[in-house]
Amino acid sequence: MQTKGNQEMLDRFLRELKEWNQNGKEPQDANIDVRYDLDQREKRVKAAGLSVEEEFAPVKDEIRGVLARRGTVYSTNVVYKETRHTVHYEKDGKTLYNSVKPENIYVSVISRNADHTEDFPYTCPNCGHLTMAGKLQEGCPYCGTRFELTDLYPKINGYYTVPGIVERANLMDNIKRRCLIAGIVCGIAGFLMMFVTHSDYQLWFRIVISLFFSGLVGGMGALMAYFAQSLGLLGKVVYEAGRSVPLLSGLGSKKKMTEFMKAYDPDFSFELFEGKVIAKLRAIAFADSRKDLTVWEGSEDLSMFDNLVDMRYRGSLDVRKIERRNHKIAATVKAYVTDLYYTGRIKAKDETIYATLEIDEDALEDPGFSVHAVTCRSCGASFDAMHRKTCPSCGNAYKLIHEDWVVTSVHK
Ligand SMILES: [Zn+2]
Ligand SMILES: [Zn+2]
Repeated sequence: MQTKGNQEMLDRFLRELKEWNQNGKEPQDANIDVRYDLDQREKRVKAAGLSVEEEFAPVKDEIRGVLARRGTVYSTNVVYKETRHTVHYEKDGKTLYNSVKPENIYVSVISRNADHTEDFPYTCPNCGHLTMAGKLQEGCPYCGTRFELTDLYPKINGYYTVPGIVERANLMDNIKRRCLIAGIVCGIAGFLMMFVTHSDYQLWFRIVISLFFSGLVGGMGALMAYFAQSLGLLGKVVYEAGRSVPLLSGLGSKKKMTEFMKAYDPDFSFELFEGKVIAKLRAIAFADSRKDLTVWEGSEDLSMFDNLVDMRYRGSLDVRKIERRNHKIAATVKAYVTDLYYTGRIKAKDETIYATLEIDEDALEDPGFSVHAVTCRSCGASFDAMHRKTCPSCGNAYKLIHEDWVVTSVHK
């Protein structure tokens, strides 16, 4: 397990995300699905005439780690760490939204196991041509770019954040600093008050009683500051806990779904599924034209997402129902997200999205699969099926559901 490499990848990815907001340069470690998602959101933000600055800054003594899962051919590592997340929306030089919050970021990294040396299909990271990985090392047959195997895997296939409550590392320092300031300010005020109001006493006595009073008031000031901050902190904990209560319903979902899926796909990974659900919901929400989307087979009117500028997963997916019907598997899920809408101003809302996803019962989850590079079952041509329901070479119908989950219903 390349744990250290994954941690470095996470740090690099966070730096690159910041750069992407500044100049549109896409993160080199992101796979084609993540890049598509970034593009879609960029389009939406630009169309609204907004500019966004976003950063996941490092924090002191951060907690970080890896949740590793090894599959037969591919392994998924979820790398996480504490950060300070800053988001700033602006229009015509005017600030519309500014938020600085402690958040934990989770990035899912896919790698190909070292004992699988056989060649595998891969999309050219430069031009999107689907070919074999071995070919890409000699040079892409389409654009000629050459890639090392390390350019192809490991790759980031999704990321999400979970809100933290307070920035743990600086918490005590900040509290102490504010208490000290309050103490000094009150102390000076106390001294001056006593000194000025006792002008008929001898100077040495005025100084002594003023100093005594200053110490008393200063101490009380510091104490009050401490109580006020503790109360504020308690309020924050209660508020964030309240926001998080619904998330608890997702706790048993991983076990429930993994057990159900075992019969159909022994290699099923809930983390991968979770990442896919969010990526698909975002793709549907951000799409300009939803009716030609391959991942969307529902009939609901989704114009409620037309003003959406960001959808952030809150780290909980509740699988309400999972069943087999007509040789398909149907999963009904509740996804907890924070949505940002732009309607002249930016509004952030915690929302629950109900969705149903379906897949053929004999489809196996392939972490290397992407809707942006599929193979036609009839002529073997490769193409991006995101907005195409037929093969561009032979015209044969392409059914995503044979290989991947499609969304058949979405509502709030
Ligand atoms: Zn190429
Ligand atoms: Zn074809």
